[in-house]
Amino acid sequence: MMIHVQNVSLTYQMPDGETPALRGLSFDIEEGAFVSLVGPSGCGKSTLLSILAGLERPTAGQVLLRGIPIDGPSPSVGYMLQKDHLFPWRTVWGNVTLGPELQGQNTPEQQEKLRTLLRRYGLSDFLDHTPDRLSGGMRQRCALIRTLARDPDLLLLDEPFSALDHTTRLAVSADIHAIIRAEGKTALLVTHDISEAISLSDRVIVLTARPGRVRSIHTLDGLEGLSPMERRNHPHFLRYFNDLWKELDVHV
Ligand code: ADP
Repeated sequence: MMIHVQNVSLTYQMPDGETPALRGLSFDIEEGAFVSLVGPSGCGKSTLLSILAGLERPTAGQVLLRGIPIDGPSPSVGYMLQKDHLFPWRTVWGNVTLGPELQGQNTPEQQEKLRTLLRRYGLSDFLDHTPDRLSGGMRQRCALIRTLARDPDLLLLDEPFSALDHTTRLAVSADIHAIIRAEGKTALLVTHDISEAISLSDRVIVLTARPGRVRSIHTLDGLEGLSPMERRNHPHFLRYFNDLWKELDVHV
């Protein structure tokens, strides 16, 4: 098992009181699975990713990564955020090599690995470009390749597509999804977009309003092996959309 979340709670201690963010969460993520996490704003989704990234510690319960408790940041876990956080003054090559450079690991082997990824995913001709000369999709690819440079087994994706317009988002999410699958990585995606969750995932976990608890887990049977666009056109898509919509209990 890649991830085993066992009865996890987290309460933030503030000078003016406590904020219970997560309460009694349990679920598993299998090796190679793509899992989405949806839930109302403020229900603790980012908090959960911070725990998995080793940046926060649960107040109760534990998280095991391949059977070992997470007790700090680890190269096995990569994080991709809403903004791509590419440095505007560094080129594509300068951005993807920054991490290894800071860790003193910018070795010829590491550089060759990065060159292979950049070639495989169509960025070889843009190595000397700064990010402002790239399309939104290329920027996300560059950010993903930077994350893949450390060869993580688990990728945490915190709304990485939310800054893109709707049409670009459809294409970029499918593209990033294909790269993650091709590289054989396990992924946990936080998204507000139910359609996106259904089009990309093996399973969708719905959290309740704060403090976040697991409300339900939906295995998207019948959609395995289909591309995001094929899924959107599949008869099951609407059924899953309605199931998730009811669970989310959205009010206007
Ligand atoms: P989501 O990602 O689902 O929107 P978050 O995990 O960001 O939710 O936040 C969950 C709750 O915890 C919110 O009420 C938020 O205000 C609170 N919170 C998040 N981070 C901190 C922090 N570092 N200190 C105190 N409270 C926090």
